[in-house]
Amino acid sequence: MPSKDRTPSPSLDSFPAWCSPSAGPSLNTNTKTKTKTKTPPPHICAKINAQVAANPALGRPDFDFANHVRSRAYTIQTFEFEDGGESAVLLDTGVERLLPPAFAPPYAPFRTGTGPGPGPGNGTFVIGDAGENGLGMFAARDIPSGALILAEHPLIVAPYLMGISVRLADVYAELFRRLSPESRHDLMALANSRPVGECGALEAVVRTNALGIQLRVPDVEYPEIATHRAVFVNTSRCNHSCGPNARWEWDTHTFALYLSAVRPIMHGEEITIQYIACTAPRDERRAALEALYGFTCRCAYCTLSPDATEKSDAARVWLGEFWGSLPPFEAWCLERGTLTSPSTPSDEDRSENGEPEPEPEPETDPRIRAHLTALRLIKHEQLHVLDPERHVDEIAMCFGALGDREMFRAWTRRVRDAKVGVVGVCSGGAGAEGEGAEWEGEGKGARGEVFRKWLERPESFPTWGWKVGFRDEREEEEE
Ligand SMILES: [Zn+2]
Repeated sequence: MPSKDRTPSPSLDSFPAWCSPSAGPSLNTNTKTKTKTKTPPPHICAKINAQVAANPALGRPDFDFANHVRSRAYTIQTFEFEDGGESAVLLDTGVERLLPPAFAPPYAPFRTGTGPGPGPGNGTFVIGDAGENGLGMFAARDIPSGALILAEHPLIVAPYLMGISVRLADVYAELFRRLSPESRHDLMALANSRPVGECGALEAVVRTNALGIQLRVPDVEYPEIATHRAVFVNTSRCNHSCGPNARWEWDTHTFALYLSAVRPIMHGEEITIQYIACTAPRDERRAALEALYGFTCRCAYCTLSPDATEKSDAARVWLGEFWGSLPPFEAWCLERGTLTSPSTPSDEDRSENGEPEPEPEPETDPRIRAHLTALRLIKHEQLHVLDPERHVDEIAMCFGALGDREMFRAWTRRVRDAKVGVVGVCSGGAGAEGEGAEWEGEGKGARGEVFRKWLERPESFPTWGWKVGFRDEREEEEE
């Protein structure tokens, strides 16, 4: 990958762990070493406090690093997983206590690999040439929306903020030493976008490729302490797009990351994730990517004409503010007559990209209209990462509250259908050919089941007819 490659994790590189070259408790290399912390010098605390306070992703002006590190202790160890994976980790002893005694196997029935073409454990993606973006991840078959692309364990995990007086490079060196030769090779093959001489090669690779995972740290005041750097062999290869077709989630119970498609991905298409929130206007997105990852985004959504950019910016900002500006559903249900919803941006020229959403009837409630507009804009901006299902869910619920049997059924059916295959798993398994592999629905089935019940008997929907006063009538009957 070229030097312009970037870290697939928001803001992770904007402040370092506290480390001091002075002698302190050294990292003992025995398994499960406990490392006592001591209070860092005031000028180090002040510097880190200022960096945390200034980080827009954290927004914690009251952060007190000295208070955090005073009572912390860490363990360094290697996790070996049943599926053959391994992780070298440096964890707060509190985090370690919260981890399950044994990790469940990952949901995916295969272990992912990096070899070319479909093959053992490598059915859904390949790592290949992504042009000026260096290497990238590509679909090795058609992948339906919601399907799992890969599950993988991190090779290295370390807290983002830690208070031990050893050099960060020594921490990473010790973690590296604990990995198998194969894992070490995979790790060092990853991109390095740090300026030459800034830090050692290993630290540079970790800082370039780490994703920010959350591991809860007990007995701390600041939730941001939960952020850990985690390096993944495959997901770290995913390039950024402002209209990504995939997203990742971290699961502590399996100590694994799950990468899944947010819309259908065609065989051969590059698999992309977002490094920053893509609801910001184009110039802000580009500035953030430049600052955090050192590259200028040239994705399809950053290279539109000035006119189209203006519309795209307005749509993205509106989508980004949508849920925050929407009154709670229950309040809307009970607020008969007064119809409130976010005002919608211009819908002109919105139908050129794919099938437009069905036009609502003119008298449709503004809340439903707002959701329909959101669905249209998500499709237009390719922002499926914003979870269009959530809008479909709510449209069905709105029609339920309005007691509109026909529309409630129509949208509930859509919800039910969308749940099939969601978080699907490729059952082809190791060595399966691209063709004929089946995708099985899994994970969100329980929610789909609820909708199935409502479909059969709309009146069983909890807020059925509330918006039009059925609830009051029911209460009167009861009296
Ligand atoms: Zn872009």
